[in-house]
Amino acid sequence: MIARSMGLALVLVAAAQAAHAQTDDARVRAAVERVTPQIVELRHQIHQNPELGNREFRTAELVASHLRALGLEVRTGVAHTGVIGILRGGRPGPVVAVRADMDALPVTEDTDLPFKSTVRATYLGQDVGVAHACGHDVHTAVQLGVASVLAGMRVQLPGTVIFVFQPAEEGAPPGERGGAELMLEEGAFRDPRPSAVFALHARASLDVGRVGFTPGPALAAANGWRAVVRGRQSHGAVPQLSIDPIVMASQIVTALQTIRSRNLSPFTPSVVTVGIIRGGERLNIIPAEVAMQGTIRSYDPAVQDTIMRRMREIFDGTARAGGGTFTLEFDRGVPVTVNDTALSARMRPTLERVLGRDHVEVLEPWSASEDFSFFANAVPGLFFSLGTQMPGTVSGGHHTPTFRADDGSLPVGMRVMSAVLLDYLSGAGRASP
Ligand SMILES: [Zn+2]
Ligand SMILES: [Zn+2]
Repeated sequence: MIARSMGLALVLVAAAQAAHAQTDDARVRAAVERVTPQIVELRHQIHQNPELGNREFRTAELVASHLRALGLEVRTGVAHTGVIGILRGGRPGPVVAVRADMDALPVTEDTDLPFKSTVRATYLGQDVGVAHACGHDVHTAVQLGVASVLAGMRVQLPGTVIFVFQPAEEGAPPGERGGAELMLEEGAFRDPRPSAVFALHARASLDVGRVGFTPGPALAAANGWRAVVRGRQSHGAVPQLSIDPIVMASQIVTALQTIRSRNLSPFTPSVVTVGIIRGGERLNIIPAEVAMQGTIRSYDPAVQDTIMRRMREIFDGTARAGGGTFTLEFDRGVPVTVNDTALSARMRPTLERVLGRDHVEVLEPWSASEDFSFFANAVPGLFFSLGTQMPGTVSGGHHTPTFRADDGSLPVGMRVMSAVLLDYLSGAGRASP
């Protein structure tokens, strides 16, 4: 009897939650329709005025003034140009964070968008075009829209939302720090501390109206590395007097391929790339040293450790055999982005309810990396892809001049993210204690 009445209570709770979600969806849909013209306008403004990492001054101002106008508590200057807006609902409930990144890339835009960027800036001492070639303008605009939608529902909102607007997701300029890691160090998740974090990312390979996500490891860890192999310089005609760093570096490049093929399981994804190899000035001189740089991608800290250890052993063994020396340094890097599997399972019905079951895809892991991983290492996280390609138009890949995200993705992103946050706060789909 007790079991039966408990069962009935659970059914009633589930039915009440479903009814609640339906009313929320209708309210969100109406609010999104209302704010879309303004958010499209803001997106164009951000797109036309792109700013590189740690230089998002005007974007941050625009973000902060929008959040202040909504009555949110606003902190600026977090990790240089980051902005945090806190929306406290009228009812008690959990705390949740949502992240959008604001930085653009040193890419010269080549699209037919009427609001395309013609901005130029200096990057690494060179004059470059600047463009939102990864869709961060869409992320920022969508999140401003979500803030508008939820601020309009503040009285009934059961809990608190932390809106995180992050600088330098693509990496801070050399010699500077920035991005998610620095925001956390500067207290982004302190007072109040969220119990989960969400983010969406534009995806050129998905149509507008679709979203996708990867439960578990979703985006690779990335570690840059740089090395110098040193030998002894000599005339090219008397190699016996040299210690040849070109021969040693060549052997190293070849041996590095065996990490992937001989030290790791064929079922363990990873990448070891040599992107730069530079040495020598003249055809008849064996140079004193060769510089090398590259990147490692992995989805598991143990694999990352194996790769780094084997690289060190290969550099060491080869340099010793050749009579030379070496230095090898790894960047701190960006950790693997792991979507919390319980949170993914819990929020999937929300994505499917808002967009329709056949508009939600489970995606293969992506070999790109994301510093959202720092946030998702601090609290359970879910990062999903938002389709930005309008059928009938063509977009280049991410980080290319022809990358083109359609405005049609803005209302979709606002509806999905608003619903995800509302459902999370109201406890929908949470396993009963
Ligand atoms: Zn990017
Ligand atoms: Zn990005």
